[in-house]
Amino acid sequence: MSGLFSLEGQRALVTGANTGIGQAIAVALAAQGARVTCAGRRSSSETIAAITDAGGQAEDLLIDFADPLAAKGVFADAGYTLLVNNAGIIRREDAVSHSEADWDAVIDTNLKAVFFTCQAFGKELIARGREGAIVNIASLLSFQGGIRVPGYTASKHGVAGITKLLANEWAPHGITVNAIAPGYIATNNTEALRDDPERSRQILERIPAGRWGNPEDIGGTAAFLCSPAARYITGAVLNVDGGWLAR
Ligand code: NDP
Repeated sequence: MSGLFSLEGQRALVTGANTGIGQAIAVALAAQGARVTCAGRRSSSETIAAITDAGGQAEDLLIDFADPLAAKGVFADAGYTLLVNNAGIIRREDAVSHSEADWDAVIDTNLKAVFFTCQAFGKELIARGREGAIVNIASLLSFQGGIRVPGYTASKHGVAGITKLLANEWAPHGITVNAIAPGYIATNNTEALRDDPERSRQILERIPAGRWGNPEDIGGTAAFLCSPAARYITGAVLNVDGGWLAR
């Protein structure tokens, strides 16, 4: 394993690691040598089995990020150096009918919990003079408006904004803060779109690479952004979208 990409000796926390993109990120980090905590509201037993079967190290941590401050205290004295904020929800309603309850749920999980989890992690590293890396999972809707997802679009624009702010504030402490903006990735989240032949055809036609992304496409990017090879990258919101935004 090249040292440039090695995560040996690092301890990582990945949120929403029981399925989809978070699962692929946890597996990719562990494959590079990190010990991975899978943080979510349900057990990540399948992810942990995949990691340990391959000789890696992983454990579960039950946290519900519907409470944005839920991660407070998790990082104290625990030796974490890597954080990936992946957990997220979407509510599909047009702007005239989007309810306040759905707006609050999406903003709490996708934005407020991301900020306060970063805060808890950053505080610990800064207090100990330890370097580290944060990767936040943003979206194409960090750059574009989208349609029928008002709270989600607001939350993902917010994730891009706080990623840049934290990058500015914490670069002097050796903490990099970046975001990945996935394009259309085949997960449970997008199953309904893939099952709709007309919508699925429209999406595929618009992707220059001619295919949906796999969760592993995002896992590899997250492992890179956590690695020594990416130490001079901070404040980036990197689209991983098969060329969608280049169009
Ligand atoms: P999934 O719905 O498959 O996974 C979402 C993950 O977030 C699950 O592990 C889920 O846990 C977890 N989660 C949701 N709410 C909470 C909560 N309150 N507390 C703890 N964990 C929670 O979606 P994806 O894998 O597709 O999405 C992962 C991330 O990628 C999200 O932030 C999403 O917005 C983003 N994204 C996805 C794209 C795609 O095309 N798939 C495109 C752009 C961005 P549980 O199983 O318990 O619900």
